Order: sequence, then C-alpha cells, then structure tokens
Amino acid sequence: PYNHILKIRKQNFSPFISTYFQKPLLLQQGYMQWLFDYEGRRYLDLFSGIVTVGVGHCHPKVTAAAQKQLGRLWHTSPAFIHPAIHEYAEKLTALLPEPLKVIFFTNSGSEANDMAMLMARSFSQNVDIISFRGAYHGCSPYTLGLTSVGAIKPRIASGSSCQTTMCPDVFRGPWGGSQCRDSLVQTIRKCNCTPGCCKAKDQYIEEFKNTLHTVVAKEIAGFFAEPIQGVNGVVQYPKGFLKEAFQMVRERGGVCIADEVQTGFGRLGTHFWGFQSHGILPDIVTMAKGIANGFPMSAVVTTPEIADAFTKHLNHFNTFAGNPLAGVIGSAVLDAIKEDGLQENSQETGSYMLLKLAKLRDEFEIVGDVRGKGLMMGIEMVQDQDSRQPLSLKEVNLIHEDCKDMGLIVGRGGLFNQTFRIAPPMCITKQEADFAVEVFHAALSRHME
Ligand code: PMP
Repeated sequence: PYNHILKIRKQNFSPFISTYFQKPLLLQQGYMQWLFDYEGRRYLDLFSGIVTVGVGHCHPKVTAAAQKQLGRLWHTSPAFIHPAIHEYAEKLTALLPEPLKVIFFTNSGSEANDMAMLMARSFSQNVDIISFRGAYHGCSPYTLGLTSVGAIKPRIASGSSCQTTMCPDVFRGPWGGSQCRDSLVQTIRKCNCTPGCCKAKDQYIEEFKNTLHTVVAKEIAGFFAEPIQGVNGVVQYPKGFLKEAFQMVRERGGVCIADEVQTGFGRLGTHFWGFQSHGILPDIVTMAKGIANGFPMSAVVTTPEIADAFTKHLNHFNTFAGNPLAGVIGSAVLDAIKEDGLQENSQETGSYMLLKLAKLRDEFEIVGDVRGKGLMMGIEMVQDQDSRQPLSLKEVNLIHEDCKDMGLIVGRGGLFNQTFRIAPPMCITKQEADFAVEVFHAALSRHME
C-alpha cells in the first residue's frame, strides 16, 4: 500500500507535517518498545510517538481494559456521572501533593495549557503570562503565545498577551552553568558544582528579574515552565533556578504552572513528576501525552482556591472531557506504571544509558552535549565541541536516517533541529539501551569516515 498512501498524503495532507525520513516509515504494528513496518522490519522505538507511549505500545493490560470498556460505554459527557472517571480522578490526584487536588479533564496538552492560562488570569485578575524562549506549550491560539519552538511565528499568530524570557539553558545560554544540572550530569562531565557555575544561575535569575521589571506590567498572572524543555531539545536549567523564579513570580501576584506534558508519569525516574526534582510546588500542573499512553486525554490539577476562582468567572465546559473510556485507560496506565516498575526502570535504565551515551562525546567531536534525566535524554550535534556551532541539518538528517536503517527510531528537537531526542517507552531494557548506543556509535563512525 506504500505508494498509494504516499499519493493520498501528497493530495490531502499539509506539507507542513514532516515525516522525518526521506523515505517515510509506513508502520503497521507496535508492541511495547517495538514498532514494525509494512515490510516486516522491526524498530526499537526511542521516541514513543513524541514522548507519549509511556507504558509501551498496545500494553496488554491497558488494551484489555480499553477493550472491556469499549463494549460497555464510551461516552456520556461531563453532565452524567460514571464511576470510571471518578475512580481515576481519585487515583491520579493521590499522586500529587496537597493542595493540588482539584482536577479538570481536557483532551490534549494545548487544551490543558489553555485552561491553565484561563485559571491563572481568573485567579490573579492580571493578564500577563511569561514563558521561556524555546518553550513548547501548545499550538492553540492561546498557547501559541507561550510557544517559541516547533511552530512558525507563533507569537504573531496568537495575538495573545504573553511574554517570553531568556531560557536558562545550561548548554546554549550565555552563562553556561552546565555543571549545575544534576549529579549524574556532573559525573558525565567529570566536574563538581563550582562557585563559577552557581554564579551562572545568579546571572540567569538576574535576567529573569529584569524581564519581570521591564517587560511585564506591574503584576503578572502566571509563569509557565516545563521542568525540562522537551521540544527545544531536552534543555535543563541550573539547579535551584526554578525555585527562585517561582518565588519571584508569586511575590508579584502570579501563579506558577508546571507543564508536565512530557516530564510527568515517572519518565524522569527519581520522581513521578518533573517539578519534584526541582523541589518546587506549582499552583497548577498540566499533563497530557503519557497520561493515557496515546489515547487523547489531558488534565489540569490545581488547588481548591484557584479552581473556585476559575469556575466563578467561567462556565467551563468540554464535551469529551473525562469520558468513561479515558478514565479506564488512564487508570490502567497508572496501574501499569506501578506494577511494571516503570518509574524505577526510567531511573535505572535511563542513568545507565545516559552514562553510555556520554562516552560518545569523548569519541566524537560532533557530539556537543549529552544530557537529560531518567528516560528523557538529548544528544546535541555540533560542528565541533569548541565552537558549539550546530551541525548542519543535512548531516544530522543523514545520521538520523542511518539510525533508522539500523532499526532505531530517534526523535528530533532543538532550536536548529540538531538535537536527537530519546524518550522510549519506559519498559525499555538495559540490553536494548546497549543496542541503541551501538547503533548511534555505528552511525556516527560511518559519518566521520
Ligand atoms: N506542552 C508540552 C511540554 C509539549 O511537549 C506539548 C506537545 N509537544 C504540548 C504542551 C502540547 O500538547 P498537544 O500536542 O497534545 O496539544
């Protein structure tokens, strides 16, 4: 069916949606961390449908739960009460600290962040919202104002009053601070946290303070941050940065929003939520992608106080939100994460893989940075490690394609689309991590020949 499908694509799809490879992959099936194409070839999936299939493709228990519910009841609308979504709400909010206990269901990451913006504005009675340059918070008219990668001229299209501030990117930012990331990255870089790199954090904080003073009106509505930036190429901030930034935002009347669309549900290993690894407590948490392993669902969790202000000002309604099928699938996903020990595996296999990948940096001058946490990693490609100039797209594409031809599906991201992103289903084993590193090694070696 390959040529026929490509013909339909050409006629009826927007060319904007890239298919990654010169010869696009036509997939037929998936099982756990594996994908299979129409010609019967098998690929280790290092990208999970953009950091979404957390517990594995067609996970047997999630599939069985969905199939059972499909024969009973799909949809009722939020005006009716069904146990599935209530039991799920109780189970999910139990995983969040007090006072984050009130949940709203939506259908995508963009919708969840749209809602969080409405909440921030209705609670604070202010307008301005801030996000980092390089952030990705969605593609709806509202969230486009917060997004500055992955979409074209988002701020013009959005027309909404959002402001961006410098991302404290420890690799690309002007003051570095790479040692400050976390202990594993310190090990990789063979360095300790020095006064110099802590100073970098202070400089980023000073810059953040400047934005608050100069760009934003006196008081602000909210501040959005991904605990680790995903689309921007797995960008990490200096340790302690978010904690100080949250404090400054709150001093000016704003609420703090953690966008856990990529970092939640155990992916970062040490904690269930990304914000926990920064030692911070957000006022609003948004989640999507891994929440339902690929089924369209998302959620916003907030405090009773913010929820009250929001519902007082807006009669919010969403037809599909929290349907019984979504509740059953979400619940089965939480069970799978627990029963299969997936958060623990993210920590263990993620650390194992990061250390192995980091060795590529010692061997290949075009590997600029290897970073990440748990099973969310990035390899940033450069012309050479001194200049840090991005490797040309043509070269990155060739390496990417070569990995695919050897059975490895890798993600892409970053400002120049030059960062390989690694976020496999969390059931990946160490043996498979070894295979992935060998494939990267072979592709890089071949490229340098
Ligand atoms: N937030 C983050 C951190 C994301 O990575 C994304 C999607 N890449 C979104 C929000 C938007 O999610 P969706 O595509 O489901 O609207």
